[in-house]
Amino acid sequence: MSTTGRGLSPEQRDWLQRTLKGFALSPEAWISTLMSYGIAASYLTGKATSCPVCGGDDRFTYDNRHGRGDWVCRKCNDGDPMGGDGLQLITRVNRIGLFKLMRELTGGAPPSKRAVADFKAPRPKRKASPAFVEKRLTDMWNAARPQATGDLSMRYLQERVPGLTAGPSRALRLGMLEYRHDRKVLGEWPGILARFELPDGRLGTLHRTFLDPVTPAKASIVSPDGEILDVKLNDMTLNPLAGGAVRLMQPVDGEIGVGEGLETVYGGFMETGVPVWNCLNRVLLSQFVVPEGFGIKVVHIFMDFDHVDPKTGKSPGVVAGMALAKRLRAEGYTVVLHRPRVRGTDFADQWTTRYLASRMSGPLGRQASPSPRVARAF
Ligand SMILES: [Zn+2]
Repeated sequence: MSTTGRGLSPEQRDWLQRTLKGFALSPEAWISTLMSYGIAASYLTGKATSCPVCGGDDRFTYDNRHGRGDWVCRKCNDGDPMGGDGLQLITRVNRIGLFKLMRELTGGAPPSKRAVADFKAPRPKRKASPAFVEKRLTDMWNAARPQATGDLSMRYLQERVPGLTAGPSRALRLGMLEYRHDRKVLGEWPGILARFELPDGRLGTLHRTFLDPVTPAKASIVSPDGEILDVKLNDMTLNPLAGGAVRLMQPVDGEIGVGEGLETVYGGFMETGVPVWNCLNRVLLSQFVVPEGFGIKVVHIFMDFDHVDPKTGKSPGVVAGMALAKRLRAEGYTVVLHRPRVRGTDFADQWTTRYLASRMSGPLGRQASPSPRVARAF
C-alpha cells in the first residue's frame, strides 16, 4: 500500500487529500502517465500479463475499471491478490511516497490538469552490475566493527528485548551508514548491518537498521519532502534472497529457530532458549531453506501473530509460518510452531511483557533469563 500521509505535517496531509480528490485523468492520460513512470505499455493492454511489481506470468491486469488507472494482481500482497489505482501502481513500482508523487504530478502547486502535462519523467534506472554490488557490500561490511558487548547495537537490542542475554553475533556489525533517498545522501547514521546468507553460504544482502546516534533507539530520518523514511531496509541485493537467513547463533543439538525480524527472533530466544536466525520478513520466512553442514533436524518457527488481513481473513504471519512448517515437514524435518498468546503481538512483545511483569512483581527475577523450552505445538 502506498502511504496516505504517514509522517506528513497537517498542512501537507491536507494538501494531499485535496489534491487526490481533485485528481482526474482521461484513459489516454493514465496510460501516458503510467508509462512515464516506467510501466511499459505491454502491461497496460487490459489483458493478463506479468506484474510490473511482483513479476510472474499472467497475474496482472490493468483494466482502468473506475477510470482511476485501476489494476488487479493475483499475487501482489505477499502472494495474495491486491488491486489499486494508477497512483498506487506508480508508488509501488518506483518506491516513492504518494505525497512526493502528487507533488511531481502537479508541479508542487495546487492541482490542475495543465500541470499534469509537464511533470518530470523519472530518470531511467541503471541496473548495478554484480561486481559493483559485491564491492559495495564487501566495503560496507569491512568498514563496520564486529558487534561487541556494550556497543550501540547491543544497547539497542537490549532496549528492544529487555534482559537479552545473547552475546554479540558474528552476523551483526555496527557501522556508520549513509542513508540515500532519491539518489541523494541525506546523511550518515550509526546502524546495525545484518549479514543475510543463502543456504550455500553466499551473501544475499546486508540488512540495515539505522540507529539514533545518542540514544539506543531507531533513527528518525525525514526526507526533504517531509516523509518519514523507513530505517530498516536491505542494501542492494547481490544474489536472490529466497531461502536465506541472518545466522545469528550456532544451532545447538541440531535445533534452530527462525522468525521474521531481529527483535522477534531474540524475543523467541528469550522465551524458549532456542538459538535463532532471522529471515527478515514473512515472505522470506516462508521460503527458508535449511542449509547443510549444521546438522539441523528440528526447526522452531517463531510466528508473528498479526491481526487478520480483511482481504484474506487470515493472519499473514501465521500463514507464512504454517506454509514453512508444511514444506519442512514434507522434507523430513521436525517442526515446532510457536505463536504468541495475544493477537497483534510478536515474540519481542510477549517476552517484554513477561519480563517487565516479573520485574514488577517483586524480587523474583526468575524470568530474567531464557525460560525452559515451552513449545507450543500446532
Ligand atoms: Zn503483482
